[in-house]
Amino acid sequence: MLKLTGLSKRYDTGDLALNDINLTVPAGQVMALIGPSGAGKSTLIRCVNRLVEPSHGTIELDGQDVTRVRGARLRQTRRQIGMIFQNHALVERLSVMENVLSGRLAYVGFWRSFFRRFPADDIRQAFNLLERVGLQTQFDKRGDALSGGQKQRVGIARALMQQPKLLLVDEPTASLDPKTSRQIMRLICDLCREQQLAAIINIHDVVLAQQFVDRVVGLRGGELVFDGDPKDLSPDI
Ligand code: ADP
Ligand code: ADP
Repeated sequence: MLKLTGLSKRYDTGDLALNDINLTVPAGQVMALIGPSGAGKSTLIRCVNRLVEPSHGTIELDGQDVTRVRGARLRQTRRQIGMIFQNHALVERLSVMENVLSGRLAYVGFWRSFFRRFPADDIRQAFNLLERVGLQTQFDKRGDALSGGQKQRVGIARALMQQPKLLLVDEPTASLDPKTSRQIMRLICDLCREQQLAAIINIHDVVLAQQFVDRVVGLRGGELVFDGDPKDLSPDI
């Protein structure tokens, strides 16, 4: 569960990107974050994964205050947060399997430890995840031999390989065709519910979000302007 209390961010430039955001995302809930460009969506995501230091407020992950943790505790916190990116961020010259296994190494010296042998349990889990995302027969293909949708499936499996408590998903369908976008959104939302993961999906396509998520939060000018059921969202938000 993620809990944001009174979260605000003012950048050094003076821009108030987030103003007193209060938000709880329980385990198993998929929340879409929507709003126009400049609304503060990226800032919110970056505060949670601690790429941006909040000016005020607290961030709690499963009851633990992670707002100002540093060093080893920050790495431990980030391991509990799976990230899925618009551009997949796969290592294209590595295989599908190696990309998925790399989720296990997130933030612990990726290149240094990569060629250590992986425990059999990790490999079994990676195969199970590849099966779940429909790529079990492609495990030895190189990242750059995959379609956009397949790359995103690998990105999803890699994020889950981390066994996170929270998924942060940044525009997962922005470079995909409409049919693939629906498949990817359905896969992410189903997996979060199956694995009881809290998720925040930063997404432009409101209609797509409404079809699959449990809850929509709208930001505008750093303020929370909507929080509710996707079907209650008016088109002019
Ligand atoms: P998106 O809306 O696609 O998330 P943006 O265009 O808002 O991307 O931001 C792109 C990058 O520029 C981000 O790294 C963001 O932090 C940075 N950025 C956005 N606005 C400013 C600004 N006013 N001053 C400095 N950096 C900014
Ligand atoms: P969104 O993701 O909804 O497009 P952002 O979080 O990128 O919104 O931006 C929110 C506000 O913060 C904007 O006014 C933007 O210009 C500003 N901003 C974003 N990143 C930076 C930054 N690195 N430095 C200064 N201002 C920024």
